[in-house]
Amino acid sequence: MDTSQAELIAFLTKRLGADGVIDDPADFPRYTIDWAGDQRGEPLLVARPRTAEEVATVVGYCHHHGIPMVAQGGHSGLVGGAQPDAERRELVISLERLNRIRHLDPINFSMSVDSGCLLQTVKDAAEQADCYFPLALGAQGSCQIGGNVSTNAGGLNVLRYGMMRQLVLGLEVVLPNGRLWNGMHALHKDNRGYELKQLFIGAEGTLGIVTGAVLKLAPRPQTRRTALIAVPDIAAALKLYSQARRSCCDLLSAFELIPRVCMELAFEATPALPDPLDEAHPVYVLMEVSASGPVDLDTMIEHLFEAGADQGHVRDGVLASSEAQAAQLWQIRESMLEGQQMRGEHLRTDISLPISALTAFFEGACQAMTERSPETQVIAYGHIGDGNLHFNLLPPATLEHGAKQALLHELEAILFDLVDAHEGSISAEHGIGRVKQRPFLAGLDDLERELLDGLKKLFDPDDLMAAGRILPRRR
Ligand SMILES: Cc1cc2nc3c(=O)[nH]c(=O)nc-3n(C[C@H](O)[C@H](O)[C@H](O)COP(=O)(O)OP(=O)(O)OC[C@H]3O[C@@H](n4cnc5c(N)ncnc54)[C@H](O)[C@@H]3O)c2cc1C
Repeated sequence: MDTSQAELIAFLTKRLGADGVIDDPADFPRYTIDWAGDQRGEPLLVARPRTAEEVATVVGYCHHHGIPMVAQGGHSGLVGGAQPDAERRELVISLERLNRIRHLDPINFSMSVDSGCLLQTVKDAAEQADCYFPLALGAQGSCQIGGNVSTNAGGLNVLRYGMMRQLVLGLEVVLPNGRLWNGMHALHKDNRGYELKQLFIGAEGTLGIVTGAVLKLAPRPQTRRTALIAVPDIAAALKLYSQARRSCCDLLSAFELIPRVCMELAFEATPALPDPLDEAHPVYVLMEVSASGPVDLDTMIEHLFEAGADQGHVRDGVLASSEAQAAQLWQIRESMLEGQQMRGEHLRTDISLPISALTAFFEGACQAMTERSPETQVIAYGHIGDGNLHFNLLPPATLEHGAKQALLHELEAILFDLVDAHEGSISAEHGIGRVKQRPFLAGLDDLERELLDGLKKLFDPDDLMAAGRILPRRR
């Protein structure tokens, strides 16, 4: 251990207490591997501050001594942003002990929280106050609000409630120089010039460490109905979507596309899951409507079924008759991810397109993948109500690791060219991190690159905070 590391340990121990610093490599693994297990790193040390002021103290020390640092939430991010680099240069600043709910205001429909609160904890606290925090995603038991803010997380309810950008009223952030910015406003309308908080949302920890957030709540839904509807193809799914948006009185809260091949993955991961319909169909839609007051949702969905069947884009369907049955339908959506993970190495994407371009894109992309690699399996599903597709690829199992990686790399380039041709985005949800940096940079024009570089230099001139994520490392 060199002197500077010993000094850092002594400083952290003095300021955060003995349990506020982890310096034994045997305890590092929990902070070094991402959820998918394919991004790893080696931290210099791990700091575990308990308050925003402690975060500011740690960051100020790093700034003064030129120590690179990276913020870490629940490490469920999917683009390798939270894992330290492999060279043991970065101090991991874990927010796991910043986990207090500060204040809940049911009249203002807002809640202020520490950034290390788990998303599930926040959702439970909102429910107890007869409110609702609508962000919903598979990792909600482990991801933190700070991670959700920093990745501008989306999830299942975006089409009704928006992404984190729309769900944050205020923020508290430690800047890369250790200064604490207090923007914890609980205002639903505020037009005082530049919207600073939006700079930190989706910035993946490159501009500052989020220590607190004021979240926007909604009324708690009192009634909710989930339906699984079988349709012949993607075009029919989109017709149903358009109809549902119009006929469900703006109460549509989720609209997910599940091709049969993806449902099979769910059955592989959770064999006890029943096949919800008597016959298999090529494509399904999993949709939810919810209301905070007494609305006849059953009749609303039945009318949608009938109209869809009359027009030929609904073949069959089931309307969950109990909470347990609805949970089982949602379990299909969750288990698909596990099934995909169980199949081993694959390409994961989170692209988005204008909703009206989804059918042409889907057909063109499947054809392009088959032409290049007929044995590669397309696993494409997603939040199509937001134009967001997880167009994932499973390479042939017979290939060895290097050949799989080369093939997936090539297929990704073909796919992203098609996304570009349809004026889409290579990241709708997960962000850029390190994994998507190359195609992200390739898609920027000179002016965009200049503006982004300038922004990063303004906040972090020494490139010490989350260096190498989104933009390339400068030193
Ligand atoms: C099973 C599963 C399902 C998912 N489903 C969705 C989905 O439907 N929609 C969606 O949008 N995403 C989804 N995700 C990915 C999503 O980005 C994360 O789950 C979540 O938002 C990340 O939160 P985290 O606390 O785990 O952050 P981490 O993984 O710890 O960090 C993510 C990034 O944010 C930075 N960061 C973390 N905390 C802070 C902080 N306090 N201040 C500054 N920077 C910080 C990190 O440095 C890193 O760059 C899913 C992930 C999994 C594993």
